[in-house]
Amino acid sequence: MTVLMVGKKVAKYKMEYLQDEMNYLRSKGIVPNVEIIRVGGKGDARTYENSIKKKFDYLGIRHHESIFPEEITDKVFLNFMKKKNEDDNIHGILLFRPLPSHLTDHNLIVPEKDIEGTAPFNVGKIMNGKMNGLLACTPLAVMELLSYYRIVLQGAHVVIVGHSAVVGKPLSIMLLNHGATVTIAHIYTKNLEEITREADIVISATGKRGLITKNHIKNGAVVVDVGISVDESGKVHGDVLFDEVIEKASYITPVPGGVGDVTTTMLASQVLKATKLAMSKSREYQLQ
Ligand code: NAD
Repeated sequence: MTVLMVGKKVAKYKMEYLQDEMNYLRSKGIVPNVEIIRVGGKGDARTYENSIKKKFDYLGIRHHESIFPEEITDKVFLNFMKKKNEDDNIHGILLFRPLPSHLTDHNLIVPEKDIEGTAPFNVGKIMNGKMNGLLACTPLAVMELLSYYRIVLQGAHVVIVGHSAVVGKPLSIMLLNHGATVTIAHIYTKNLEEITREADIVISATGKRGLITKNHIKNGAVVVDVGISVDESGKVHGDVLFDEVIEKASYITPVPGGVGDVTTTMLASQVLKATKLAMSKSREYQLQ
């Protein structure tokens, strides 16, 4: 029988751990504090932002939002970022991207406050096999789901469909660090079906509704759907044709209700990690 990998269960389990960590920080008189920065008003980002704020409020993570008009100059924006990077009362910075094209988007956030784990230093850490830095939240959510359901990674052949810098690439390195054999497929990959059919675990992160069919999956494979696409009626879909793939998969995530439910919890976990880094004044991060 196919096991449904339920994001809410995983998030709840992780939240209990995070609440313990919050209690520890409170006992030291520390309240994690996040600066949320948005340039312009993108609808999609607003929904994601609201779910993040809800999670932060639930845990007692303080947050403040700065919103700028699209026309903000590069100089004003860089000055603002510098101030936030230097402010010891801020433990994490969350910057919604993409930024307007006239703004610099390079090393904007110091690595120790980079709670989305996308700064080159943090990406470099996972490339070096270290998971103790700040990590990208969506790949981390996938790792957490796989771990919760005790999916064995060592020696498994994982095919990731999607090679973006925020999902596919960091996820591939995290899986490699856990001993998986990883293949990354993308928009230019030929014979996708043949490649995914070889996989013990298929992880799709493309945003292409219905891309992964039963023909892409071998019997008993684990299927994780990261993709999100919204149709004209506002309904959310994944990349995987769930109703037919469930017949072959041993484990499968639904959309909605899978990876998405874990992502904001993993972001909160990175805020607490950043706060602890600030407390310990990690030498490794100070060197940057
Ligand atoms: P992206 O647009 O940056 O990358 C899409 C990737 O899909 C690219 O690597 C591209 O090569 C690949 N791709 C596109 N069409 C393809 C095809 N026909 N065959 C094979 N590969 C194809 O997107 P992203 O930021 O990496 O996000 C991917 C998806 O994951 C999106 O749907 C996004 O909404 C979703 N997402 C979900 C969460 C979550 O928490 N569940 C978080 C982040 C992103």
